[in-house]
Amino acid sequence: HHLVEVSELVHHYPDGTPALRGISFRICHGESVAVVGANGAGKSTLLLHLNGYLAPTSGTVRIGDFPMNDETVREIRRTVGMVFQDPDDQLFMPTVYDDVAFGPRNLGFPDYEVERRVTAALEKVGAGHLKGKPPYHLSGGEKRRVAIATVLSMEPAILVMDEPTTGLDPFARRQLISLVREFEHTRIIVTHDLDLVATLCERIIVLKDGTIAADGPAGEIFRDG
Ligand code: ADP
Ligand code: ADP
Repeated sequence: HHLVEVSELVHHYPDGTPALRGISFRICHGESVAVVGANGAGKSTLLLHLNGYLAPTSGTVRIGDFPMNDETVREIRRTVGMVFQDPDDQLFMPTVYDDVAFGPRNLGFPDYEVERRVTAALEKVGAGHLKGKPPYHLSGGEKRRVAIATVLSMEPAILVMDEPTTGLDPFARRQLISLVREFEHTRIIVTHDLDLVATLCERIIVLKDGTIAADGPAGEIFRDG
């Protein structure tokens, strides 16, 4: 059974730009998929559909048992954890702890469960020692890891990341790769970082001008390049 099913997805922005021209694909539980393509190919637009931040012009998105619609979008956002390109879009509370607790608190979990999730998420990203700090005092790599923790604390079944290695130094980049590799669920990663693709993703979807130009095992896509 497929965890993600995108069918004939079309997205036209209000100004008429056809960002997605009818794309279809399915992703299974546990798959690790890279989405690549030139600037303007439609990658960010596609990600925003996986979380219901945009509504299709036509076509459908299904996550697990839920077709995306107004009734299911809240439930789907618990399943699909979205790490944005800029960590500053995800960090706005006075402390790291509060940022990572934001999602679980929002879901109404009791304090002990919030604390358990925050501790586990910060530990996974190696940022337990940062929990009392204000996010704006963190380095770029630390911010990136804490932004990921704000998503992991929701315990999503799918981790979606938009350009996760942007702006990281080589050390922080390696830390990021190993923490994403440890996430055992489904991963969908938009990236220009071919090294990241080779290390983390078994499948590549290549977008070009709002269509799928290629979709297959990483080895084949690289070979056909
Ligand atoms: P990518 O993430 O691959 O760079 P995008 O999904 O951001 O591509 O953009 C796909 C196309 O949609 C591009 O032509 C882009 O200029 C256009 N686009 C993106 N956002 C908007 C918007 N808010 N309004 C109009 N056009 C947009
Ligand atoms: P709702 O389903 O209630 O509309 P959203 O998922 O849209 O909630 O989240 C509302 C806002 O809070 C969004 O801008 C989102 O980026 C932000 N947000 C959600 N979860 C977190 C989190 N864990 N940490 C920081 N910001 C978050």
